[in-house]
Amino acid sequence: IGRIAIVGTGHAGVQAAASLRQDGFEGELFLIGEETDLPYHKPPLSKTFLKDDVPQLQLLRPEDFYARNRVELLSGRCVSAIDPAGKRLEFTHGGVLSFDRLVLATGARPRLPAVPGTDLEGVLALRNRADGLALRAALPAAGDVVVVGGGFIGMELASTFAALGRSVAVLEAAPRILGRAVSPLISDHLADRAVASGIRILTGTGLAAIAGEAGRVRRITTGDGQSLPAQLVVIGIGVEPNVELAAAAGLAFSNGIAVDAAFRTSAPDIYAVGDVASYEHWLAGRVLRLESVQNATDQARSAAAHLLGRPAPFRAVPWFWSDQGDARLQMVGLAYDPDRDVVRGDPQSGAFSVFRYRGDRLLSIETVNRPSDHMLGRKLLAAGIAPPIAMVRDAGADLRSLLE
Ligand code: FAD
Repeated sequence: IGRIAIVGTGHAGVQAAASLRQDGFEGELFLIGEETDLPYHKPPLSKTFLKDDVPQLQLLRPEDFYARNRVELLSGRCVSAIDPAGKRLEFTHGGVLSFDRLVLATGARPRLPAVPGTDLEGVLALRNRADGLALRAALPAAGDVVVVGGGFIGMELASTFAALGRSVAVLEAAPRILGRAVSPLISDHLADRAVASGIRILTGTGLAAIAGEAGRVRRITTGDGQSLPAQLVVIGIGVEPNVELAAAAGLAFSNGIAVDAAFRTSAPDIYAVGDVASYEHWLAGRVLRLESVQNATDQARSAAAHLLGRPAPFRAVPWFWSDQGDARLQMVGLAYDPDRDVVRGDPQSGAFSVFRYRGDRLLSIETVNRPSDHMLGRKLLAAGIAPPIAMVRDAGADLRSLLE
């Protein structure tokens, strides 16, 4: 292989470049991204980035990593088209690049609601540093903040804004926050904590309209007719994968670019990884698209090995974290169709775990401020071990003994 091009400088793209070099690829390596910053960690954007006196980016790799590893980093360059047959990329502002193999790591972008007013000043979403800076700039004039969407990013931002002394309301169309992602116990617990920190949570109602004056946001109206003041509205209703490049090139896609177990797309020599890739997950046994740092980096590692002709079955156990106020939520595994939730520890104490089962099978473990259960869970799920339910409930039982 003479030349590999990677599109996207997020967690997946950068890890793909690093792994290709670690695995001994000696050819030319291009890493192309439309953002102008050196590649950086995205999770702090909704956590520390807004709170710090001076906003700091945490770089994914030290500045000299790219030159040391002969990675040609093309920042501020947007790829506008792929020619899979001719094996060429085109750039928005002119120029082409040929490749022997291509890795698409184009990530995802915030979805916007189809309501009037999303174009008003003070209506923002958060995906990258530019968005984070726009949020910081809007905060001084924003006493009332409405967060639309009680998902991970919405709840993290809500607790960040509350900590910064803002009056915060969260709108969640579903009956509970984090409804698609965690057990009812965990969502109720995190909702209680959020409310205790002064956040107002409105569930079962969506956003109907955003209204402004002189081009600036002033109020929002909920689906059930309530009117809330807002000088800042943050949209956090989920993301859509950046599939347009792949779609225009004729690659198969549905909810994401479709890839097989080796992260190959439907076009020869083109791979896709990270938030943009949809694949049949070995643990869930269904086609899905995950949005996490773990998924992006583990897929990129595996894709690099496959690309270099080294079969590497993908068996990474998915995990995730979210910081909301003083609660650190950690999740491991994938809970599709659980039929039983078992609690370990005491929710009243603010530190506990929920083990989710389908029949005898352990699907996932969700922990709040219990990192040791999370780390243990990673090992149990990787080994396919399901602790007996009575043991999980027994605070004195040592679950680590199951791994011996
Ligand atoms: P991205 O990081 O989105 O990178 C894709 C890159 O491709 C972008 O830089 C984009 O500009 C570029 N690109 C797209 N199209 C083109 C093109 N045509 N030409 C050139 N460049 C292009 N995950 C966790 O596990 N834990 C967390 O706590 C957590 N918190 C988060 C908080 C925030 C605010 C956000 C936004 C995300 C968070 N995530 C978290 C999710 C995590 O950041 C993503 O899963 C991860 O960034 C996915 O990596 P990726 O490389 O697939 O995509």
